[in-house]
Amino acid sequence: MSSLNQDIIVADPLLIIESDAGFAELMCSTLNACGHSCRKGTCGQDAFEWLATNSASLIILDYSLPDMSGSSFIEKIRTLGIEIPFVMVTASNDAGLAVAMMKSGACDFIIKDASFLDRLPAVVARALQEQKTLRQLQSAEMSLRLSETRLARAQKIARMGSWEWNLASGDIYWSDELYRIFGLPVGLPETITIDWLHTLINPLDLVAFKKAARNAIRGGSALDINYRIVSGDDGEIVVNSQGEIEYDESGNACLLSGTTLDITARIKAESEIQQLINYDSLTGLPNRSLLHDRLHLAIAQASREKQLLAVLMLDLDRFKDINETMGHRAGDKLLKAVAKRLQVCLRDSDTLARLGGDEYVAILIDVSHEEGITTVAKKILAVVSEPFYIDGTEIFSTCSIGIAVYPMDGEDSHTLLKHADLAMYQAKGADRNVFQFFSREMNNLALERMMMENSMRRGLERGEFFLVYQPQVDGRTGKIFGMEALIRWRHPDMGMLAPDRFISLAEGNGLIIPLGEWVLRTACHQNKAWQDQGFPPVRVAVNLSAKQLGQYHLDEVVAATLLETGLDPEWLELELTESVIMKDAEQNAVLLKKFKEMGISLAIDDFGTGYSSLSYLKNFPITRLKIDRSFVRDITTNPDDAAIARIIIDIAHSLNLSVIAEGVETRAQMQFLSFNNCVEMQGYLFSRPVPAEEFTELLRNGLKV
Ligand code: C2E
Ligand code: MG
Ligand code: MG
Repeated sequence: MSSLNQDIIVADPLLIIESDAGFAELMCSTLNACGHSCRKGTCGQDAFEWLATNSASLIILDYSLPDMSGSSFIEKIRTLGIEIPFVMVTASNDAGLAVAMMKSGACDFIIKDASFLDRLPAVVARALQEQKTLRQLQSAEMSLRLSETRLARAQKIARMGSWEWNLASGDIYWSDELYRIFGLPVGLPETITIDWLHTLINPLDLVAFKKAARNAIRGGSALDINYRIVSGDDGEIVVNSQGEIEYDESGNACLLSGTTLDITARIKAESEIQQLINYDSLTGLPNRSLLHDRLHLAIAQASREKQLLAVLMLDLDRFKDINETMGHRAGDKLLKAVAKRLQVCLRDSDTLARLGGDEYVAILIDVSHEEGITTVAKKILAVVSEPFYIDGTEIFSTCSIGIAVYPMDGEDSHTLLKHADLAMYQAKGADRNVFQFFSREMNNLALERMMMENSMRRGLERGEFFLVYQPQVDGRTGKIFGMEALIRWRHPDMGMLAPDRFISLAEGNGLIIPLGEWVLRTACHQNKAWQDQGFPPVRVAVNLSAKQLGQYHLDEVVAATLLETGLDPEWLELELTESVIMKDAEQNAVLLKKFKEMGISLAIDDFGTGYSSLSYLKNFPITRLKIDRSFVRDITTNPDDAAIARIIIDIAHSLNLSVIAEGVETRAQMQFLSFNNCVEMQGYLFSRPVPAEEFTELLRNGLKV
């Protein structure tokens, strides 16, 4: 492009295309004087060639070129995709041409007249300025559009939506991504209200959500809350919303805006990580690390509540053999099955962990004495020694348990675990399938209890138990109208034992059931024997414990006993304490009704010491109240006791019940009771509980009072 002046190369020159070279030179120097740099060309073709590799900020175009018209030049550079603004220059003063050129995109139109060169710089400056403004606008628009797409893309990638809540109008705006997160078609519903939003939130999280929003709006604190929402296809997802308040000029909160992020995957990953960190992958039980945490917490709680806490360290006996003979997979199955059985022995509040291998640890909390621990340990030994069925094979296994008790055997988790472990090795050394306490005292207590249990079992077989009978007397006449059967144990080593030495033990180990049945049978049998011997019939009262009431079909046991011994039900009375009845009031009401229908009397033992509510008396078919010994003892000296005794007597009479006083030892007591209309009495004043042979004498000869 020879005719173009190439001596100055700047980024942004003006391109003058003018057929008249002299005129072009004039234009060029005028514009140069105003600080522009210019290129000149005299025909269209030259200009195209130059524009193929260069750019101009503005074209000043002569309409009549030697090789083409101005409009065909414009058309041509358009088809080449060149977007350069241009100002038309023409000699003819033609308004029609001017309009046509402006329509085809010219910035301006300038006529070659006398003042042309004076006007040229202003026209060029205006065109360039317009161009600049246009570019700025375009670029602003472009960057806005770009940042919008970027934001939308970022939101999509992050599963994050944005929102605005206009607090004055209540209008809520959601970004497209937010609809997607909520599993809704974008833009639907069109109007979002806060009430509608509430319906999407899991009801369990709604209160917290509302509270967080309220705190943000009223208190100005930043909103930051996780909550679950019911989402279209995926069911429930977890989101995190963060937002900030904006205020108007008067300082009122006007807008709450922020972002909502789908954190379902993160939460899931976190909980999976927690699971990996804290749980044993084979059994799903807490692992060593979580065990330490739990033990730590349990110790703090036990110390606060002044309770004991037991750590049971458990190891399967001969697990190695099983693993070797049956393979690791069978071994794994066994470990899982053991875990399941162990869990059954524990309460929900206890912790069962697996330390690895065949070692488990149980933490028992809320234990008040050694007995509770022993019971669990025995249960564990029992369930583990039941056969397992693994892959169709019966496997027999046992375990050894070492027990350390807080606070005696250690006050921190480390010591307790160490001592439980030591005790466990002792247990293994001594004998398998046993448990061993770390401390000697605990061991002795447990041993004593077990020995007692064994000797009780033996005692039952060998007939070491026997009954004594205490007469129940009409205080006015001194006549025996009944008797209470009370148990005694002639222990081969310990001598005569009263019931308080063994009844609660028997309740704990379940022996109360056979023992209670034996008492019932013996008492009924004896009573029938006296009748058969010709003595006028008198009623026999038998004490029942709570465990017996809970026994399945106690009514049938009683009925069978009466049938077996031939005693008429009217001569049997069952004694229950208030607390025993109330322990399972609904079920007992049914049971007691059955007794009543059978014709058996029911007495409330130790009346006045248990429940203060008397309403239950109406709901149970009771025949007799027994005023507790403790009130009778000071009845003549303590006005309170006297008052209580009087009230009990009144209650009994008004409910049409019989009333008997226990523990009557003196004449004064007898007189007080008689005076207050309680004529039935039982106590040392009349007779101590005596063996059957002696009672026969009482029946024969009467009482000597
Ligand atoms: P309980 O049913 O209230 O029996 C009355 C207790 O008071 C008996 O004590 C009796 O010997 C004692 N006693 C009687 N008169 C007097 C007296 O004038 N003064 C004093 N200080 N005591 C008197 P025992 O035989 O030692 O029985 C204690 C408790 O053991 C009984 O209280 C009863 O709850 C329970 N028990 C006794 N035998 C059996 C039984 O066969 N089965 C069940 N489940 N519990 C029984
Ligand atoms: Mg009694
Ligand atoms: Mg009593």
